[in-house]
Amino acid sequence: MRLPRWMWEAMVRHAKEWAPLEACGLVGGRTGPGGGEALVFQPTPNEAASPVFYTVPPREILRFQRRLDEEGLELVAVFHSHPATPAYPSPTDVRLAFYPDAVYLILSLAAEPPVLRGFHIQDGAVREVPVEIEPS
Ligand SMILES: [Zn+2]
Repeated sequence: MRLPRWMWEAMVRHAKEWAPLEACGLVGGRTGPGGGEALVFQPTPNEAASPVFYTVPPREILRFQRRLDEEGLELVAVFHSHPATPAYPSPTDVRLAFYPDAVYLILSLAAEPPVLRGFHIQDGAVREVPVEIEPS
């Protein structure tokens, strides 16, 4: 998945603001080989307000979906942070992965600089999608 540098920076900022709780958000763009292209990022509250769990509020998903429809884009990724653990899906992340076509972007604050990795999670199987951060 290709992702502009400003978006990576926005994700790091959002994750640090929410730490030690997990942060989350939604990413729109264009689908394509290798996870496609990330073009817009909507940071959202974590309704679960938990250090090990996240819930994107359903109203935020609806609102973002309307924006994407207007802009002719698609939901290409679901973002969340791991404040203290590696950038790899937890068993809960795998169990609650409701978007088989989306890339799950996980930003770990356990390292400095933070580590961002992407995964497809389909039927309980995790497959890495390389993330390429491009100059803005
Ligand atoms: Zn997670």
